[in-house]
Amino acid sequence: MPDFDIIICGGGPAGIAAGITAGRRGAKCLLIERYGFLGGMSTAALVNPWFTFHNQKGEQIVRGVAQEIVDRLVALGASPGHLRDTVGFVYSCTSFDPEVYKRVAEEMLREAGCRVLYHSLVLGAEVAGPHLREIVVACKSEQRKLRAKVFIDTTGDADLSAFAGVPFQKGRETDGAMQPMTMNFRVGEVDLKPVADYIRQNPKEFHHETLFDQLEPLTGVSGFFALWRDAKLDIPRDRLLFFAGARPGEVNVNTSRIVGKDGTNAEDLTAAEQEGRRQVMLIVGFLREKIPGFENSYLLALPAQVGLRETRRIVGDYILTGEDVIQGAAFEDTIALSDYPVDIHSPTGVGLTLSGAAEQYYGIPYRSLLPRNVDNLLVAGRCLSATHEGHASARLTPTCMAMGQAVGTAAAMCVEGNHLPRGLNVSELRDALRTQGGRVE
Ligand SMILES: Cc1cc2nc3c(=O)[nH]c(=O)nc-3n(C[C@H](O)[C@H](O)[C@H](O)COP(=O)(O)OP(=O)(O)OC[C@H]3O[C@@H](n4cnc5c(N)ncnc54)[C@H](O)[C@@H]3O)c2cc1C
Repeated sequence: MPDFDIIICGGGPAGIAAGITAGRRGAKCLLIERYGFLGGMSTAALVNPWFTFHNQKGEQIVRGVAQEIVDRLVALGASPGHLRDTVGFVYSCTSFDPEVYKRVAEEMLREAGCRVLYHSLVLGAEVAGPHLREIVVACKSEQRKLRAKVFIDTTGDADLSAFAGVPFQKGRETDGAMQPMTMNFRVGEVDLKPVADYIRQNPKEFHHETLFDQLEPLTGVSGFFALWRDAKLDIPRDRLLFFAGARPGEVNVNTSRIVGKDGTNAEDLTAAEQEGRRQVMLIVGFLREKIPGFENSYLLALPAQVGLRETRRIVGDYILTGEDVIQGAAFEDTIALSDYPVDIHSPTGVGLTLSGAAEQYYGIPYRSLLPRNVDNLLVAGRCLSATHEGHASARLTPTCMAMGQAVGTAAAMCVEGNHLPRGLNVSELRDALRTQGGRVE
């Protein structure tokens, strides 16, 4: 007898949305998370703000559970909601207080009836033919074996899929090099007015798409090219990149860069944590000394872990490509939308490659969440089936939440109708997502 209808492994943006959705449909579900809190990269790695709920034209294309989360945060004064992205990469950005988000996420899961198990690491799987029978979980007290009818892998790193024998890829097709890691951090006591004044006076020193005539409120800054170059910090990056936090005076800095490491290898992760903190200390000093408005700033918080943009990507029934993203691919089994560009931080050097986004949006097909070889497993989030380029767009947080909502719904429908994920009627899944306020076209 299975212990649960659905077990969701990993409590990041995708797992949270999956758990809320599956729980609301009445499935008996459990979400397993290795840390003592939810949020994944948004909380553990201090990735902030969320990009993006809108397409380039300003039309909202991610709604559903993701928007409900934002609404709750706004109601609690823990997010300003969607604001224009002053860097000009995309239309909107959505900052949030990560501490309040941790509580909002677990409260929404509790209300939905999805149980949560913290401090538990999924570290193995037992398969019988194509069927994932049980998972092995290292809990603080003991090692447990848990069974479910359907499993969902939202570990970001495709841990469960890898343990279950699903084929996966890592990095670029040419050399396997993955996007660099970044140790984000929060800074307090920043005055953004002098920053905006400096941008107006020195526009050439900033990203060319910066909204120079719309810097109020200032939500993001990419540049300070000359000051950064002159400081000659030992960091493989060409600019300072930071975003306004959800609270006055707070800024999230996304500038460090750790190249050549594999986020599924403990030695590499250890080296990356240490290198990340080394770079953070250099950047904190640089900000205080050189950047207007940061004179009194201080390091408010380091993350619980270094940020991982890219690790394993499963091989599923469809592999989303960079062309799909740029050309605005539409699929009969689209279950989520995005219009984020292909955003590749150089895996080996200082640069950033941004390829244009689709005119309206592209679709993420259900098939890219169906892993090969295993018949009762779904994935969502940054471990989806995609090429290095396709992944570089679909990995963004609101998109991961939308994918999570789709697999949570799909898994619950499988339990209700006694189907396997591959046997699900996808047009019924799309109808269900529309009913929940989601967008699939
Ligand atoms: C440096 C950096 C900057 C970024 N910038 C932005 C940005 O500005 N805006 C934006 O929207 N997105 C950004 N992203 C992308 C975004 O943060 C991630 O792609 C997104 O969080 C992925 O969501 P996920 O749920 O798939 O995985 P994750 O967020 O990685 O969550 C996975 C969860 O699973 C848990 N887990 C992992 N393995 C196990 C296991 N074996 N057992 C139990 N639990 C496990 C983890 O603890 C975590 O809670 C950035 C990412 C990075 C690293």
